[in-house]
Amino acid sequence: MLRLPPYRYHRPGRVEDAVSLMGEHIGDAMYIAGGTDLVPNMKHRLFEPGHLIALKGIAALRGIREQDGALRIGAAETLTAVASDARVRQYFPALARAAAHVAGPQLRNAGTIGGNVCLDTRCTYYNQTAFWRQALGYCLKKDGEVCHVTKVGRKCVAAHSADTPPVLMTLDAVAVLEGTEGRREVPVRDFFVADGIANSRRAPDEILTELLIPLEAASRRQGYAKLRQRRSIDFPLLTVAVAADCDPDGAVRTIEGVVTGLGSRPRVLSGWADAAVGRILDAEVIEELAARAHRQCHPLENIIVDPEWRRAMVPVYVRRVLEEVSAA
Ligand SMILES: Cc1cc2nc3c(=O)[nH]c(=O)nc-3n(C[C@H](O)[C@H](O)[C@H](O)COP(=O)(O)OP(=O)(O)OC[C@H]3O[C@@H](n4cnc5c(N)ncnc54)[C@H](O)[C@@H]3O)c2cc1C
Ligand code: SF4
Repeated sequence: MLRLPPYRYHRPGRVEDAVSLMGEHIGDAMYIAGGTDLVPNMKHRLFEPGHLIALKGIAALRGIREQDGALRIGAAETLTAVASDARVRQYFPALARAAAHVAGPQLRNAGTIGGNVCLDTRCTYYNQTAFWRQALGYCLKKDGEVCHVTKVGRKCVAAHSADTPPVLMTLDAVAVLEGTEGRREVPVRDFFVADGIANSRRAPDEILTELLIPLEAASRRQGYAKLRQRRSIDFPLLTVAVAADCDPDGAVRTIEGVVTGLGSRPRVLSGWADAAVGRILDAEVIEELAARAHRQCHPLENIIVDPEWRRAMVPVYVRRVLEEVSAA
């Protein structure tokens, strides 16, 4: 049986109190929302904070409502709430589907959208017990000196494995952060960095308080697909999100595709506008975009599934999502 390391549990009622508790215990504390990722990671001794600061009791982090031209989603809303909310389903169906495809029902009832955006990266050599990792001499991301995937360099390439961020990026969502230095807004597009050790721009003291999605993005045609081994529970091996603005005759005005599950951050597929703007999203254009995606994606051995097969699946899933967008 894997036991949790000892910790003190704090349950503040206000964001300010949570931030000030974090300020008191910085370096020895972590925020916890649903705990669906953090608790297993603590059992694996990937994190051993002396203090856990719970976010779910903070009313200000709850609620889904329209405000100032945006849909505001409180970070502590569960994935079930996001997936079933009438406005999310109406305006941002791809987000509702992405939330509905995270893990399984019990985990979605506990897990939050904030925890999903702040999710730790995953790797075959990292998401293991302390005993397993010790036997291998640990790795760069935790306690060791070497990356077992790349064998060289000082960068971790563990996989970003959260389902909602690619969709949030295609919808121009903004993450609101509050910490000891105050409040700031970061577009989800710029939230992630390419180092799997700590793959976001969120400082350790900052709470992701809410996500703001501009309502004007609701007019975009949206699509989402996820590759995983089983149709429930499993983390993504590949997630694809696409959003496109089209003229009434179907000609593409703007289009963006984002993939994740491959490297340490979600990746915006490049060159799509050049290939598709002004054209109808027909089979020829779809094929061209899928081929571009294939050329750009090179999965590594960071997940225990053949990288060549994952790469071969990129155009297949991109094509499926584009066909969905084309038919929308
Ligand atoms: C079996 C299993 C399968 C899973 N499958 C998937 C999957 O298919 N897709 C997927 O995306 N995820 C999956 N997950 C991971 C996880 O359940 C979800 O990502 C979930 O949304 C995490 O949210 P949480 O509230 O439980 O986060 P927690 O576990 O509470 O926290 C995760 C991390 O985020 C930080 N954090 C949480 N909320 C905030 C906040 N508001 N501000 C700042 N920091 C914060 C925590 O400190 C921690 O570092 C799976 C987990 C398990 C156990
Ligand atoms: S990618 Fe390398 S450094 Fe990162 S968790 Fe895996 S083995 Fe460790």
